[in-house]
Amino acid sequence: MDRTLEGRTALITGSTSGIGLAIAHAMAEAGAKVMLNGFGRPAEIAAARAKVGAAMGGGDAPYSAADMAKPAEIRAMVAECEATLGACDILVDNAGIQHVSPVEEFPEEKWDAILAINLSSNFHAIRAALPGMRKRNWGRIINIASAHGLVASPYKAAYVAAKHGVVGLTKVVALEVARTPITCNAICPGFVRTPLAEAQVGPLAAKHGVSEEAALTDYLLEKQPSKRWIEVEEVAAMALWLCGPGSGGVNGAALSVDGGWVAA
Ligand code: NAD
Repeated sequence: MDRTLEGRTALITGSTSGIGLAIAHAMAEAGAKVMLNGFGRPAEIAAARAKVGAAMGGGDAPYSAADMAKPAEIRAMVAECEATLGACDILVDNAGIQHVSPVEEFPEEKWDAILAINLSSNFHAIRAALPGMRKRNWGRIINIASAHGLVASPYKAAYVAAKHGVVGLTKVVALEVARTPITCNAICPGFVRTPLAEAQVGPLAAKHGVSEEAALTDYLLEKQPSKRWIEVEEVAAMALWLCGPGSGGVNGAALSVDGGWVAA
């Protein structure tokens, strides 16, 4: 098994489910000590901690319940990671939420929440984790953006604005660390198979009176030329590569894992 992250520590926000959990699991399997974060039902969180803990060699993975909408909790989470694991070598800013609505009806509180959780939390976590990375002279910052960090779709004003902001923040941080062995990159996934995303297929099929297969390819994956889901493991593989040997020259990039979406 690939143990390229032996001796490294990683903090992954929003890692109780979906993409974040897959990244946490992949990094633990590669030898990293990982701290989890995110919301969910207690059983769900316990299962995530056990799964990642098993990949780390047994026991539950350390976990922070910090709310990514709250800067003080984000700072405390980074400090807790450094105290518990000894360092925060790898920071994956992954926590995110979505709301879909025409801009003139977009609820103000949803705008504020999406900007806070999907964009500002990245700033607060990077700001807190970077001094330790500089001190240890190595670090990897990975921001999980989206194809919507590069192109827009209607009805997603806050999400698209936040994800474009994440790509911009990634570039700024990359320039500031460019002469050090630290890198900062964004991953821009297309539609990824997660329970929440898959749950949209049935209702779409009913709404348009088509089969679930047609609802998937013609409506949900309308913009994804591959016409198949991106798997969480494919996003995790990119994150893992960004932490492994040979990745040091990649800095400030927005790396698409989107089945060709932004090429169209
Ligand atoms: P998910 O809902 O499965 O996971 C989101 C995670 O964020 C969960 O662990 C959740 O508990 C956590 N979270 C939400 N609000 C939080 C808060 N205030 N504080 C702490 N944790 C919080 O979703 P996912 O699809 O795995 O998405 C992960 C990231 O990938 C998001 O940033 C999302 O925008 C991005 N993304 C997803 C897709 C996709 O198709 N699923 C595509 C592109 C980008």
